[in-house]
Amino acid sequence: MAKKEERCSFCGRPKSESNMLISGIDAHICDFCVEQAREILQEEMRPGKKQVFPKVKLRKPAEIKEFLDQYVIGQDDAKKILSVAVYNHYKRIDQPATRDDVEIEKSNIILIGETGTGKTLLARTIARLLHVPFCIADATVLTEAGYVGEDVESILTRLLQSADYDVAAAERGIVFIDEIDKIARKSDNPSITRDVSGEGVQQAMLKLLEGTIVNVPPQGGRKHPEQKMIQINTQNVLFVAGGAFDGIEKKIAARMNTNVIGYASGKEQEEIDRSNLLQYVAPQDLKSYGLIPELVGRLPVVTYLSPLSREVLIKILTEPKNSLVKQFIKLFEMDGIKLSFQTDSFEYIVDKAIEFKLGARGLRSMMEAILMDAMFEMPSKESAKTLVVNREYAKKKLSKTNMSRLKVA
Ligand code: ADP
Repeated sequence: MAKKEERCSFCGRPKSESNMLISGIDAHICDFCVEQAREILQEEMRPGKKQVFPKVKLRKPAEIKEFLDQYVIGQDDAKKILSVAVYNHYKRIDQPATRDDVEIEKSNIILIGETGTGKTLLARTIARLLHVPFCIADATVLTEAGYVGEDVESILTRLLQSADYDVAAAERGIVFIDEIDKIARKSDNPSITRDVSGEGVQQAMLKLLEGTIVNVPPQGGRKHPEQKMIQINTQNVLFVAGGAFDGIEKKIAARMNTNVIGYASGKEQEEIDRSNLLQYVAPQDLKSYGLIPELVGRLPVVTYLSPLSREVLIKILTEPKNSLVKQFIKLFEMDGIKLSFQTDSFEYIVDKAIEFKLGARGLRSMMEAILMDAMFEMPSKESAKTLVVNREYAKKKLSKTNMSRLKVA
């Protein structure tokens, strides 16, 4: 009788079909299975894999602000208010069950400020500090259930995905809802027929913001093919909404004028800084803008972000912990090239960004455009080991670029 061919004890592959069959005491393993096992090990033993979102110590508001200062320039009022709101939120989550009836309510936040002033960056940075899952949802794609578009529950699918399907972690996560102003009611008249994208979505969002158990479709959840829906309790999810609220200054001014006529003294009137009315934004203004009162009530912490001045834009280029300048210096360093900038180059870049209304977002594409030739050529040139970018260099490189192409939506 012919000797039976040895096979891999894991996949059953015969020795003749594998490159190598390693023998154990009474089993064999082929090279394919060894390789697969190595990949599994690598994935499972990845640092932090077991606990991607470990429970971390809650930071005090001043510490939270200090951390934000490392990444976000200016916006001190927003940072302070946000730090306190976040501190209170996580304190509320961690409170031990008590017998008294004092229930601390959730403090979702709404940030008001022009696009590109750092709203998303603030929310993202807080999530990074606290090691909680974070996701961004765009309010403009949401529709009432049953209409074409995304249901509000889809927001939680994203949160769940960013939590790597760790439900407990997702339930302590932070959701940033962008462009909340775009779902404002189009008319101030509440009796108008409901509009699909506006008030209906606001209504649908209420329960989510307040805290409810939602059945969330994992959506292509490879890791849980057997699972149809995953339940998520939004009670402890922190929602941060953001929006530009174009033209809200008029509502603020109107309210403040009425107030002044109503009861404020002349002295108070004098103190109003008309050049930056946003700093006085109050929940009533959000209502006049078209957010329904119930939604405004569920976003009790209201704060604002100022437009970025020339000085702030220059600082954004250089100061944050992972500023663009630091990032490019590091990229060049990897090729053994010493990249440096002269101050006049920053001034030039920022002035161009202002001239073409590119905002902080445009700074990256401008830097890319300025350094593109060098990034292409220098790595293969043995002799080129330093690059100094000054105003002239920046100007020369940018003159070859179509500035309107650099505009980031
Ligand atoms: P918003 O959400 O307000 O539209 P973002 O937070 O997405 O704006 O900002 C866009 C980019 O601009 C950020 O990724 C960051 O690089 C830069 N930026 C904007 N504001 C600031 C700021 N205050 N400090 C540092 N960087 C900023």
